[in-house]
Amino acid sequence: MKKTTGTDRAVTSKWRTATKAVRAGTWRSEQGETSEALFLTSGYTYDDAATVAARFAGTAEGMTYSRLQNPTVAMLEERIAALEGAEACRVQATGMAAMTTALLCQLRTGDHVVAGRAAFGSCRWLVDTLLPRFGIETTVIDARVNAEWEAAIRPNTKVFFFETPANPTLDVVDLAFVCGLARTHGIISVVDNAFATAALQRPMEFGADVVAYSATKLMEGQGRVLAGAVCASRDWIDNVLLPFQRNTGPNLSPFNAWVVLKGLETLPLRAQRQSENALEVGRFVESRVPHMLHPGLPSHPQHELAMKQMDAAGPIFSFVVNGGRQQAHGVLDALQLIDISNNIGDAKSLMCHPASSTHANMGEEARDEMGVDEGMLRINVGLEDPADLIEDLDQAFARAGL
Ligand SMILES: *Cc1c(COP(=O)(O)O)cnc(C)c1O
Repeated sequence: MKKTTGTDRAVTSKWRTATKAVRAGTWRSEQGETSEALFLTSGYTYDDAATVAARFAGTAEGMTYSRLQNPTVAMLEERIAALEGAEACRVQATGMAAMTTALLCQLRTGDHVVAGRAAFGSCRWLVDTLLPRFGIETTVIDARVNAEWEAAIRPNTKVFFFETPANPTLDVVDLAFVCGLARTHGIISVVDNAFATAALQRPMEFGADVVAYSATKLMEGQGRVLAGAVCASRDWIDNVLLPFQRNTGPNLSPFNAWVVLKGLETLPLRAQRQSENALEVGRFVESRVPHMLHPGLPSHPQHELAMKQMDAAGPIFSFVVNGGRQQAHGVLDALQLIDISNNIGDAKSLMCHPASSTHANMGEEARDEMGVDEGMLRINVGLEDPADLIEDLDQAFARAGL
């Protein structure tokens, strides 16, 4: 394999985002292929026994087994790290494999974790159910309130875990404050950046230690495969994450890695256009519904903070109708163009009712505390012409009595 300039960190770190998205992490085989090659192989062969020994000893470069390394997977990892401005990245089979790996690789019995209460349902399950099973204490707070982070710190606090903007309430967390607070106390901050991606928000610029992803969403961008990623310093990835990942095996398949790798080429374009579309559609929705949750609109209580730490507000927003679940379901059932779907980040516009889908399993009490109203709808605005989306919402609102 020949590594191109895209694998030289001294070169790629100077590139702008769009260039990184297309070129960072490109390796080429002796065929000189333009498009990144797909290495669907679990193992590797060696010219002689001494090479095997040297590779296993770590004294010679080269692949040994795809749970440890794979060229296509490595290309994706280099590209994501470059986009994030991180020293290193490792990818996992799903976003939840990434979150589980990012937490379990560094925690042990007796540790304490502080987490934002507005979070993806399964992230809340990790915090509320899985970690306590292993004697890891957890405290869930309103992540928007800086003082709550400070008040939750204990001598055994090891990790801060949160997402911003959060799913589905679009709560925004003050990255500079919370990551800075973590640093002062020797706490590792783990930021779930799935909603924004590195195209719109780079938490490490604000002091985050670990950035974790569902790459299934905006990163992949066309709703084809599941994937996850964890970015951090080279030292943390090599010494904290890798021993866990290599021995537990939450790996991403080379095929799925290749799909995400190609998806990343258009990430900056999609993130920008979908953010613009979401603002245009959001302004229309705001004129028709009583309560809007869109960090890109001045009506969002944390609009200024969002715009300080994000390049654009992203494709996702939520809103609340007065007629509860019945009216929210009525809007969904009246849609003709926008699909009813709980996925996000897709090029297709998708809408869901979080209380009866993504956040159904967590129970009513947790939903109330998080602010997931029975009348809440969440929309992912895609790449269609926003005028068509507005027309569809207009007729759906009318039919649902809005
Ligand atoms: C979807 C999502 C996840 C989980 O990712 P999967 O790829 O579905 O496993 C985690 N966090 C956030 C914020 C998400 O949107």
